[in-house]
Amino acid sequence: MQLSSHSLAEKQMPVPVVCPKCKGAGDVPRSKIGCHIQCFGCGHEFEVMAPPAAGQRHRYKMVPLEPVVEVGHGPAGDQAAAHLQEVVAEYASQGWEFHRVDAIGCLTSPGCLGALMGLSAQQVNYYVVTFRRGATE
Ligand SMILES: [Zn+2]
Repeated sequence: MQLSSHSLAEKQMPVPVVCPKCKGAGDVPRSKIGCHIQCFGCGHEFEVMAPPAAGQRHRYKMVPLEPVVEVGHGPAGDQAAAHLQEVVAEYASQGWEFHRVDAIGCLTSPGCLGALMGLSAQQVNYYVVTFRRGATE
């Protein structure tokens, strides 16, 4: 799901690498993460690690999306979208940029009594909205 042009730009951004042997620094394409590359300076081969800088460039805020219970008026999808829009607008006014929405599946246990009655665990999806802003803001 492509919600933001930022994620595409990030994919194309070079990844900073530092040679573990000679400490020579350089940039490689992001697609090289997990690959072994050879240092230009000393010829040492090392693996390109994903940069830990992502969390430093942006601050992130996760907001659980309340389940839409009132579905009497129109399709539930419209309600959910309207609710999401409200949440995004609210945080945008505080300077948070909408980043993405993730569905997190949780298993709810029916408990001991429920299990005796033949109930099994149910999967419930929760949605978490991620906002972000520049780390320096
Ligand atoms: Zn090197």
